[in-house]
Amino acid sequence: RSGRSASLRARMEERLLGARFRYLNQQLYTGNSRDAARLFRADPAAFHLYHRGFERQVRRWPERPVQRIVRYLRRRPASLVVADFGCGDCTLAANVRNRVHCFDLVPLSPRVTVCDMAKVPLAAESVDVAVFCLALMGTNLQEILGEANRVLKLGGTLMVAEVASRFEDTRAFLKAMMQLGFRTVSKDLSSSYFYLLEFAKTGPARPGPAPGLRLRPCLYKRR
Ligand code: SAH
Repeated sequence: RSGRSASLRARMEERLLGARFRYLNQQLYTGNSRDAARLFRADPAAFHLYHRGFERQVRRWPERPVQRIVRYLRRRPASLVVADFGCGDCTLAANVRNRVHCFDLVPLSPRVTVCDMAKVPLAAESVDVAVFCLALMGTNLQEILGEANRVLKLGGTLMVAEVASRFEDTRAFLKAMMQLGFRTVSKDLSSSYFYLLEFAKTGPARPGPAPGLRLRPCLYKRR
C-alpha cells in the first residue's frame, strides 16, 4: 500500500514539475529579457527547476547543439575571445581552450557572470565570437542581437543555434540580420531539431524596425 502511494506521489510531483517548467518556459519566450531577469532574481529556485526541465528536453535530441559549437571553435584558433550569451551550465567554456565570457541570469557555475544578455559588461568590439546556443529567448531580439553586435569586433563571428520550429520565415530572418549588421556565412538547416547559423559582423546595426526578426516561442507539450 505505502509503496503504491509513494509512487503515486512521485508521479504527481513529476507532473507538477513538468507543469511549472512549461509555465516558466512560456514566460521566458513570451516576455522580454528584463522580465526574465526579474523573474529569476526573485525566484532562483524557479531557475534551477527550469534548467532541469531544459536538460530533460535536450537529452531527447540526437545531438546537443552546444557540441556543434564546441567542434566549430576547436577548428578555429584558441586565441579567439568568446562571449557565450545564455551559457547555462557553461558546457561551452568547459570544452574549449578559448577565453570564454559566460553570461546567464543565475550562476549554475562559478564561471558565470550574472546579467541580462541585453546588457553585458564587456567593452565595445572586444570579442571575436558571440554565441547564442538555444538562448534567443526574450521578445526583445533586436536589442539582444544589437548587444552582440556592439561587443563583437568588425568581421567577428556570431553563432546562433536555435530550435528549428521557431523559425517562421528563415529568409526574412536572415534579411533582418543583415540590417542588424550580420552577413550570413553558413547555415545548416539539415537537422529537424535545431538550425545552426553562422554570421560575420559587417558593421554596426542599422536603426529602425527589423520586421523579419521573429522567432516563434518554443512551447513544450504536456507529456
Ligand atoms: N547555451 C546553453 C543553455 C541554453 S538554455 C546550452 O546550450 O546548453 C538558455 C539559457 O539562456 C538559460 O540558461 C537561460 O537562463 C538563459 N537566458 C535566458 N534569458 C536570458 C537573459 N535575458 N539574460 C541572460 N541569460 C538568459
